[in-house]
Amino acid sequence: MSAVAIINPETSQISIEAELVFYGKYATEDLAQKIVLEINQMWNEPNAKLQLGSTLFDIVFDIKYTCLGNSEVLSKVLNNTEYAVNFIRIEDKNIAERSMMGFGLGENSGHWLITDQLGESTTAAHEFGHALGLPHPEQLDYRFSGNPPIMAPRGTIVDADFQWNPLAEAGAFGGTMRPIFRRVRSSEVLLVLRGLNPENLGILKIGKLTNQLFDEIGRPVALNKDLTFE
Ligand SMILES: [Zn+2]
Repeated sequence: MSAVAIINPETSQISIEAELVFYGKYATEDLAQKIVLEINQMWNEPNAKLQLGSTLFDIVFDIKYTCLGNSEVLSKVLNNTEYAVNFIRIEDKNIAERSMMGFGLGENSGHWLITDQLGESTTAAHEFGHALGLPHPEQLDYRFSGNPPIMAPRGTIVDADFQWNPLAEAGAFGGTMRPIFRRVRSSEVLLVLRGLNPENLGILKIGKLTNQLFDEIGRPVALNKDLTFE
């Protein structure tokens, strides 16, 4: 995901803004709304703050969406120079067999699967974190520290209450993190803003513009203006 962070000293607010452009067979208004709600709610939940100079800034996520047909998305991607804009195809399967955001961290193009319970679990918020350049944490054992962080991957060790099966032994079958229990931590919000230069405030561009479209099963499409895209 690419995004922009707008630093406003007058309101003491840093607002992280992005527009998710959804396309593909399952890119419905209803689903798009649920996904964006999940991302905004989860990333705003820790009420993260950042001290810059003498000002304590509130960090607020403001993510919006649009759903476009294939020909509209093609003309938008060919002309896109805005860091706030991301292109995400939604289908029921792909060659990676999981929701992905391009091939590296911070790309503004992805292919997500409805089978990942987008908007009903924590997957959309987790993918959003990858999209903003956050990797999985190196720490894979979050026992005795509350809910696991949003960037924790499947297989993470957690307190029994946060396991698939609270009765399973830690690390055994059923004894790993059930993703629904992940929560965004303030430290993860601050990681998103790690590129911020206190000497040079204004607008921070986050991520990179790959402006890539994917076909139905998640293969990158070579873009040119004559393309008819399905
Ligand atoms: Zn992940």
